[in-house]
Amino acid sequence: MALDGCVQGVGFRPAVYRLAVRHHLAGSVRNTLQGLLVDVEGDEAAIARFLDDLEGCSPAGGVAPRRSVTWHEPRGLVQRFSIEASLRDGAPALLPVPDRTICGECLAELSDVNDRRHAHPFVTCSTCGPRFTIVQTLPYDRDRTTMAGFTMCPDCRREYENPVDRRFHAETISCPRCGPTLTLRDGNGHLISTADPIQASASALASGRIVAVKGIGGYHLACDATQHAAVATLRARKHRESKPLAVLVKDLDAAHARCHVSEREARLLSSTARPIVLLAKRATCDVASNVAPRIRDLGVMLPYTPLHHRLLDAVDGPLVMTSGNATDDTIAHRDDDALARLSGVADLFLLHDRPIHVPCDDSVARVVRGETRLIRRSRAYVPLAITLPVAAPRPVLACGAELKNTFALVRGREAFLSQHLGDLTNEHAYRSFVDSIEHFKNLLGVTPRVVAHDLHPAYRSTLYANGLDGVERVGVQHHHAHIASCLADNGVERRVIGIAWDGTGYGADGHAWGGEFLLADLEGFERSGHFEMVPLPGGDAATREPWRMAATFLRAVYGDNMATLDLAFIRRLDAAAWRTLTRAIERGLNAPFTSSAGRLFDAVASLLGLRDSIEFEGQAAMELEALAEPRTDRIYSAALKETDGGLVVRTPDIIAGVVEDLLRETPPATIAARFHATLVDVIVEVSHRIRRRTGVAAVALSGGVFQNAWLLGGALASLEAAGFEVYSHRNVPSNDGGLALGQAAVAARRLSGKDCA
Ligand code: ZN
Ligand code: ZN
Ligand code: FE
Repeated sequence: MALDGCVQGVGFRPAVYRLAVRHHLAGSVRNTLQGLLVDVEGDEAAIARFLDDLEGCSPAGGVAPRRSVTWHEPRGLVQRFSIEASLRDGAPALLPVPDRTICGECLAELSDVNDRRHAHPFVTCSTCGPRFTIVQTLPYDRDRTTMAGFTMCPDCRREYENPVDRRFHAETISCPRCGPTLTLRDGNGHLISTADPIQASASALASGRIVAVKGIGGYHLACDATQHAAVATLRARKHRESKPLAVLVKDLDAAHARCHVSEREARLLSSTARPIVLLAKRATCDVASNVAPRIRDLGVMLPYTPLHHRLLDAVDGPLVMTSGNATDDTIAHRDDDALARLSGVADLFLLHDRPIHVPCDDSVARVVRGETRLIRRSRAYVPLAITLPVAAPRPVLACGAELKNTFALVRGREAFLSQHLGDLTNEHAYRSFVDSIEHFKNLLGVTPRVVAHDLHPAYRSTLYANGLDGVERVGVQHHHAHIASCLADNGVERRVIGIAWDGTGYGADGHAWGGEFLLADLEGFERSGHFEMVPLPGGDAATREPWRMAATFLRAVYGDNMATLDLAFIRRLDAAAWRTLTRAIERGLNAPFTSSAGRLFDAVASLLGLRDSIEFEGQAAMELEALAEPRTDRIYSAALKETDGGLVVRTPDIIAGVVEDLLRETPPATIAARFHATLVDVIVEVSHRIRRRTGVAAVALSGGVFQNAWLLGGALASLEAAGFEVYSHRNVPSNDGGLALGQAAVAARRLSGKDCA
């Protein structure tokens, strides 16, 4: 019998062994590159019972395996059942396993003073511990992981070989005698001699120091989350003024004490994946205000490694836990690299000697309308496959976009999305992109024959795709890929009204799109409507400086009269800088046109005085969402213009409404709510128009703007009330982190259509 799927690294071989022994069967089980090979001999009825029992045996948290059974004449050669050495021939067809949160039994041993693994920060078993980040190549055997350098002591060896032990064939097995060890180094990388590196780190954290902590998928920077000064120091050294930082708390009670936690959110927090969950802060939250300034939510996670548990036992307070990197690149994961990149940031390094083979950031999720939505799909989700609605006839590599990059490797209907790699304009991130593609190819035994990519000619992912030899190329328009990603996320393949709103994406006409209404399926799309195209004065600079968009929209509404408006925005506007920009717009110099929804949010945020420049993508929009009242009585009107190029939403009308409210001294929180409600109304109105014209009654919502819970929740409710079937993202992010899945789905659809024709 062969079993495939997620069968390695989850304790399946020992489970099979125990069942075979229970049913008095002889034979063997072994890992192969295609899955598990089980050979049993014995009484036919006993074999039938064995198969029945195996049916109900899904390894902890694992996806149920597929199996195929072949019957042979008994050979009568074997007397007992055994676990045999892995076979390493043939083409790999395995599914590698994600990293797994420490299990209850290991946790109990960690705190049991009489257990020989008491306080061992690397306690694992056959169902828990690191996997994806330590596997160099498959099949999953110890000598193919970064545990290869640790020789088991006799006690561990005995457990490893004992079929009734829960560490039977646990490849990551170790104990204080034979396993990895912790060390402490100062900010310059010099070894500090201490009997208890965890206690020493805890004391340093308590006194406001910053400690780099080596974890499963990379380095975190930690500090006491209740100390404003410590957080300020971390921010200053990391050159990260205001980007929200995640917080690690001891348990659910500690999360409840600081945030409002629904039942669904509690389940997500304590799920085996242990993602960072965005939760609404309580007014009484003791976390320093500069951890997540000016936004409603706090990113909270629970401990997922034995080291986290020990650290939190020692400090007894919430810890900031942020990726150990200087800017928006991949998390630092190699010791030499981390010491080099983080010296000057961390005061102390809490290290261990188990190498990390693959960097992997924490995943981020939130609950909107009772459903979990991944915002960053990384640790504990990667490399689980997502099933495509259509099989790719040939292996596909989808390269993703530029920011928040992930790529996807496709084998048949299975799309393997990579971990979060970050902003590819950053050298570290680009190198991980290239390395990770090679790693995934090797892990999955897949050589891509087709490469799918964005249409943006300057994205490094596009340049990478263009540099590959001997592959077929499939270019996929950015917003089409967003909608396809949403369809694939929902497992459907049908024509929808695709609403793709984001910061920017290369349009089919070469302009910067971002407020799009597409009539789309996996094969192709038609641009049915879009936000009014407005100048983006200074190009990328306008993305970093929302005031430019505010001024541009005011000019679109009021022309030169904008200078006479009695607005705080006008009073603080740098008139000389704006004059220069106006001239550039008039001459069409470095002022491309955009329909971006993200830039509309920026403009409103700036008019409301939230911020005129940003530090990270989406910041102004996040603050605008945080400001908005939960409900509103009225909306602004926005005309819909029929043009040859489809419906155009007159976004300057919305700005006019905002300005009138500002002149009436309407509270900003009310204006923010009205603005959000206006966009919900636009979504419903435009969807109505397209449905009337085409009969298409399903809507897919995608693009980074739909990370906004106010907008997503409102749009879902209103569209459903209006009789639309609505698809939104759950398993992959709506932002560019999910784009590769859409590119993969489009490529699979086009290739299979072509092969049939
Ligand atoms: Zn365990
Ligand atoms: Zn040992
Ligand atoms: Fe996008």
